[in-house]
Amino acid sequence: MSGSPAGPAAGGPGAAGNSRAGSSLPSSLPSWLPIREDLAGHTAYGAPQIDVPVRLNTNENPYPPSPAMVQAITQAVAEVAGTLNRYPDRDAVALRGDLATYLGHGLGVGQVWAANGSNEIIQQLFQAFGGQGRTALGFEPSYSMHPLIALATGTRWISGARDADFGLEPDHALSAIRAHAPDLVFLTSPNNPTGTALSPEVIEAVCAAAPGMVIVDEAYAEFARDTSATALTVLPRCRRLVVTRTMSKAFALAGARVGYLAADPAVLQALLLVRLPYHLSAVTQAVARAALALASAPLATVAALREQRDDLVGWLRSRGLRVADSDANFVLFGEFGDRHAIWQALLDRGVLIRETGPSGWLRVTAGTPAEMSAFRDALGAVLVLVRGDAPPDPPIAATRRAAASRRGSTSEASR
Ligand code: PMP
Repeated sequence: MSGSPAGPAAGGPGAAGNSRAGSSLPSSLPSWLPIREDLAGHTAYGAPQIDVPVRLNTNENPYPPSPAMVQAITQAVAEVAGTLNRYPDRDAVALRGDLATYLGHGLGVGQVWAANGSNEIIQQLFQAFGGQGRTALGFEPSYSMHPLIALATGTRWISGARDADFGLEPDHALSAIRAHAPDLVFLTSPNNPTGTALSPEVIEAVCAAAPGMVIVDEAYAEFARDTSATALTVLPRCRRLVVTRTMSKAFALAGARVGYLAADPAVLQALLLVRLPYHLSAVTQAVARAALALASAPLATVAALREQRDDLVGWLRSRGLRVADSDANFVLFGEFGDRHAIWQALLDRGVLIRETGPSGWLRVTAGTPAEMSAFRDALGAVLVLVRGDAPPDPPIAATRRAAASRRGSTSEASR
């Protein structure tokens, strides 16, 4: 995602289905609007929000909160509702304590900070450690909001490259750091949109070489094949390291907007200077605490999604496609001469995926078994059209029915 940070808008909201509120905002600004020169001409973050039967484009957890979770959240919100005349706990101490307990690794409330999604966490980090005259280095393709928040905070963004397999060799990372001496280094692991994870050794080497802050964005950490390979293990040895996480993915709480970080207490002191007073509403804090108290339910979906992810990787490879190794809840696959045509053909079949990453590649989020089967059916049909693949094998039941009727016996389905 180099170039314009948010990248090109992939298909219009009107491409198929109904667009949801917000995506119909005008895309170009009128000339009378005195916007900052450095923002003019840039494209806003714009994953299309389209109402279609199968939405696999924004790496959400497809499993909605369980009835028990809904009840706990409702109860928590009801309790807080009668106190909404007052500002919330400005420092969200109870929630941060719960998050520290969830993270483990000996972390305490003084090392954990929370905000409205990890996007806001990242923004606060840029506000405190980036800004005018400062630089941030990331290795792309990676999460498109990193350069976009750099832009919004006046931080110069330097786009380093990943290796051909979307990994990051330490030598390569270190030479970019030596060349640019950035104030912030961004590492995303598992990386969006590639799904590839970094080893703690790479993170440790970057920490040792970087002159400034090192941010490891671990939004998808829970989906990693080896969850012990987290940057949290490096924290005790690197005071300028920050590990960001979110409740949007594994906790299935994207709508609640809760992100958090683990870092040295001095980092939190710096963030107090840039956060807005009372930034995290009492409702958000209550919802997040209720969800954390019942964490085992949403976290159980992570194991199922990992399986769906691995099956998906295997299936895509079996179709002769290139697939990046994935430690996340999505898979990057390609390569297509005209990826937009594939994206559109899938959308026409009711399946929304994401046109992002290097040209020729597409990203699909791991969904429920039914959603994965709809995706496989749709992509199988599209590949028949564009590559002339053999039509997919007929469903087993149909094959058995055909064989049974050839034998003149009762069909499977009618028993
Ligand atoms: N980091 C990465 C790598 C992401 O992919 C995302 C969301 N797509 C975020 C951070 C932000 O997530 P949220 O603001 O919902 O916590």
